Amino acid sequence: MRFSETFVKTLRVAPKDETARGAQYLSRASFIHKELAGVYDYLPLGLKVLDNIKRIIRDELNKIGCQEVLLSTLQNPEPWKLTDRWDIEKMDVWFKTELAAGGELGLAPTHEEPITELMKAYISSYKDLPVAVYQIQTKFRNELRAKSGVMRTREFIMKDLYNFARTEVEHEEFYHKAEKAYKAIYDRLGIGQDTYQTFASGGVFSKYSHEFQTITEVGEDTIYFNADKTVVLNEEVVNDEVLAEMGVKREELQTAKAAEVGNIFTLKTKYSGPLGLQYTDKDGKKQPVLMGCYGIGVSRLMGVIAEKTSDDKGLAWPTEVAPYKYYLAAIGENGTRMANDLYRGMSEEVLYDDRDVRPGEKFADSELLGLPYRVVISDRGLEKNEIEVIKRTTGEKRIFSSENFSLKDIDF
Ligand code: ATP
Ligand code: MG
Repeated sequence: MRFSETFVKTLRVAPKDETARGAQYLSRASFIHKELAGVYDYLPLGLKVLDNIKRIIRDELNKIGCQEVLLSTLQNPEPWKLTDRWDIEKMDVWFKTELAAGGELGLAPTHEEPITELMKAYISSYKDLPVAVYQIQTKFRNELRAKSGVMRTREFIMKDLYNFARTEVEHEEFYHKAEKAYKAIYDRLGIGQDTYQTFASGGVFSKYSHEFQTITEVGEDTIYFNADKTVVLNEEVVNDEVLAEMGVKREELQTAKAAEVGNIFTLKTKYSGPLGLQYTDKDGKKQPVLMGCYGIGVSRLMGVIAEKTSDDKGLAWPTEVAPYKYYLAAIGENGTRMANDLYRGMSEEVLYDDRDVRPGEKFADSELLGLPYRVVISDRGLEKNEIEVIKRTTGEKRIFSSENFSLKDIDF
């Protein structure tokens, strides 16, 4: 992409209403645009980041045999009435709307009810199980407070996965696969070292659920952990009974602020029961289908990654997430000629700063935008046959020979 052809504008100062550093950079670098409190647009660079996050998630979930679907965001109230979650007193984040012809509809806050209802058309026999389906989709929640840019919004993108199993053993088997897939996802997203699987309150049927919490000052949650982080707990489960069960003492636990980037729940028959999702077993007997649900906050992750990986100069995207891998800056006539050649055939991976602006401005913008490698091709460098490459995350500088130079040679 040629910078001169984008509508990206970089701002020197952050919008007044963004307080989190990551959110400030995402706005200043034109990744996101705020419509309203808690409602954001994703601009070309931000959309590329979101697409990269989604690609990693799809890749890891497809590996464990999940199938992708896309359910509707307009929702039928009936199944929600059956599980007693339609009333605003039961679920306070509902956005609801009305049909012109009369009658209410819900705007999807989540999809347990619709997916369970849907699967009744496809699961009837033990031969139809196990199965796991997921989607990546917009959710609407009337959150009391929006916070930290895209980290808590009223319209957001979630990956939600649901598994359907015959027995507890079969369910557990999938649950463990999902745990592993989640770890792989956060590693590839570049936040694995600060993301912990925590014990959280489990709701009605299982004692605990698990959350994936990334340590960050702008997180809304507090986690408790022991010295080697083998026991990590959400605040709400820290009590004498749980501490005894985990074999830890309150005094040895430290705390940190964290953001929930995902969670996994064993639902058992919480939804399949009231909605009547059953299968016929080998003996011809009707059995309830066992379920689990697994969420990941896709758009929240973009905010968390921005927050975690940025420094005092700007964003610093992990390679797999970055909108482009290379920031190519040309200085002078010969530099521009060579940069044009290098850019040809690499436009998918290169943001080519061909703007007629001072080098200092290009460098500042390259730091703000945070692409993994800044490649500078200048007349002065070319006189010495030199091309300068700087790695954004470490600031490490390497000089490459301009003879037969290819961007693909850069790996450090
Ligand atoms: P939270 O405790 O943060 O409100 P939740 O328990 O309501 O999250 P789920 O309903 O399980 O979350 O949603 C799955 C994932 O979606 C969460 O782990 C989180 O990463 C993300 N998420 C939830 N609410 C929001 C929101 N308002 N804005 C952005 N992402 C969200
Ligand atoms: Mg919530």
